[in-house]
Amino acid sequence: MTRIIFFGPPGAGKGTQAKIISEQLNVPHLSTGDILRKKLLDKDNLANELKKIMSSGNLVSDEILNSIVSTRLKNEETNGFILDGYPRTLKQSEFLNKFLLQMSNSIDYIFNIQINFETLRDRIIKRSSEESREDDNIQVIETRYNEYLNSTQKVSSYYKVNYPNIFHEIDGSLKINEITKKIKEILKKS
Ligand code: AMP
Repeated sequence: MTRIIFFGPPGAGKGTQAKIISEQLNVPHLSTGDILRKKLLDKDNLANELKKIMSSGNLVSDEILNSIVSTRLKNEETNGFILDGYPRTLKQSEFLNKFLLQMSNSIDYIFNIQINFETLRDRIIKRSSEESREDDNIQVIETRYNEYLNSTQKVSSYYKVNYPNIFHEIDGSLKINEITKKIKEILKKS
């Protein structure tokens, strides 16, 4: 049973790494961005609302995210989980802490993938042509990056200070396989 959180700005490669590690460890990969993008296909009122928020690069409400994640964790949490894109606000991290406490669970590893703005801007532009994501364009990238700086970085700092033994900084400018290697080395150690 392994429980992992990936942090990092949009375009840092946390989704890519979370997917690789999920397959290696056979642990479910929970990407809140992917879950929300699937929800957009419903084209109902909630989907329209979400589409507006996501395509502008802003964050969806904590209530919606907490409900999505807790429902999935209750149903899927057999072999652990890999959280990718959650928690993104301090309110979400408080909710997650309480939720895990109730389930008598705790996080085993936190990987914080660091990357500078110029590198991630180039990556996101490349990804936009490959995946045609509406939120991958220059105007929206800045909003998403600012959301990261204003909200999510506070969350990763909180974990870094309070859970130093399980918190690992990863250089996101390395190649995909080099990043995977570093993560696997850390997983192997304990
Ligand atoms: P991502 O694929 O993780 O970059 O997420 C794409 C978009 O989904 C974000 O820009 C947000 O609008 C929304 N989103 C994903 N996860 C969260 C979260 N934990 N809290 C709030 N909004 C989220």
